[in-house]
Parts: sequence; structure tokens; C-alpha cells
Amino acid sequence: MTYVILDLEWNGARCEQLGGYFNEIIEIGAVRLSGDRRIAERFDAYIRPVVSRKLTRLVTNLTGITDEQVQHGVPFTQAMAELAAFAGEDAVVMTWSNTDLMVLIENCRYHLKSDTIPFMRGYMDLQYYTQKRMKWGTAQQVSLGNAAERLQLDSADMELHHAIDDSVLSAAIFRRVYEPFSFRKAVSPVNDEFYRRLSFKPYFIREIDDPMIRRSDLRFACERCKRNLKRTGEWQFHHRYFSAPFFCSHCHREYWGRVQAKRKFDSVELKKRLLVKTTEKANETEEIK
Ligand SMILES: [Zn+2]
Repeated sequence: MTYVILDLEWNGARCEQLGGYFNEIIEIGAVRLSGDRRIAERFDAYIRPVVSRKLTRLVTNLTGITDEQVQHGVPFTQAMAELAAFAGEDAVVMTWSNTDLMVLIENCRYHLKSDTIPFMRGYMDLQYYTQKRMKWGTAQQVSLGNAAERLQLDSADMELHHAIDDSVLSAAIFRRVYEPFSFRKAVSPVNDEFYRRLSFKPYFIREIDDPMIRRSDLRFACERCKRNLKRTGEWQFHHRYFSAPFFCSHCHREYWGRVQAKRKFDSVELKKRLLVKTTEKANETEEIK
């Protein structure tokens, strides 16, 4: 087993073939770690872009990479073959947020007609791991530079947004935050389910009789007497939620019940809301489950 930290730079290019934007990789930087998590070897390759030969000004400003540099680069297929040799047969790959991984897969799909990364046996999102370990919370993503600063690592002599330097800095962060037990738990085995999970896009369920919605999810209790409300009309789907009229035969109150069901890979995130139907001022109660 080898441990490889990857960082990529890419250029946003309009792609006729894909009918949209494509993040074309122009640089791959990587470090392979030794058993004590020090850097054993470095990998750096510029890639000659084919979708758009011209780099956007944004990319050049951010990365310092020029059109000329990438014109002297290697084709993506060659860079990937070299990276595979560098990584070995069974590598645990780490990236700072899984965006780099998504972009790498997107490029493999385009250039190699493959949805998978052959040498990757395990994967860990180092950004997520670091934020969990340091108890920084995971609601907001912390940038690599910011994380280095918070961990008081010296990044002054490194150029941020240069793939090889970013992977070196990521390795320094990894060394600082590594803890064997949590690390073992945080590494996902790379199999079919891993790729399915990665490409799954959450969406709002639109059909009220979707099997992922339980009947009990569609019940509401009167906010006054706590008795079950009676639904007095059909469920209707609006932009992102269902709503139906409800009535309490005890209190003679009318309500609107709202249910929002967001489908995740292996769960449903449910939000419920009960609104009192009134001509007077809106009297709302909220119930988030
Ligand atoms: Zn009631």
C-alpha cells in the first residue's frame, strides 16, 4: 500500500463535444509518502490541453501557468500512465476536497474513456479529515492556505495554486493532523459503490408515493391539541416541496402541511412545516425533523 497526495490545476474550457464546460487538467502534482508519512518522492507534470489550447486569464493569474508552459507539456494519457507508475498498484489517494478527484475522473472519462482511476484502491478527502480532526466544523470548506495558517505551518516559500507545492503543503498538513485510528476509518475502499456515490446528485423527490417517503412522514399533529390532523385535499408538488390542506376536527383549525424530501445517495433528508391557514396575520410554526 502506498499513500499518494494529489493536486491538480485545470483550465475551464468550452467543449463542443460535451456541450458545456469542461475542466481540462493542465498540471498534476503529487507526492508519495513513506511509512513515517514523510515525502518519499515527488511527481509534477504539465499537460498539453486539447479542448482549449488557450488558458483563461483567470487560470493564468491564479496558477502562474502560461500557454507556453502547457504547450511543452505531455498528453493527458501519458501523464496518467506516469502517475500510475509513480503511485504503484494499490495506492490510497488523498486530495484537498474531493473536487480534484471529480475533475480527475471527468478527465479520465474524456481522454481515456474510463470512469475509474486504475491505481486507486482507497481514497480520503484530506480537507474533510482535517476539518473533522481539528474540530473546525465541516459546514464551510477551509482552503489549503487557510488550513496551513491555522496549523501554523510555514508555507511562505511555497507558491499556492501550483500543483506540486499544494501537494507538498497538503502532505505537511497530513503529517500534522494524522492519527491512525481515525485515518483508517476515514479511508474509503474504492469499488463500484464508491464511484456511484461520488457521481450521485441529490435531488428533491417529486412524486408523493415515492417508496422513500414513509406514510408517517406525511402526517401532522394539531399544534394546539396535538391530535392527528385530517388531510382535506390532494398533495401538490411545488418548486421543491409538497403541500396539502389539513384540518383539526377538534379545534376547527385549518392548516397547510408542507413536506420537502431530498434524496441523498442512501437516505432521504426530510423537512416538515405546518402553517396555520388564516386570513389574519400569518401564524406560522416550524417543525424540522
Ligand atoms: Zn386541534
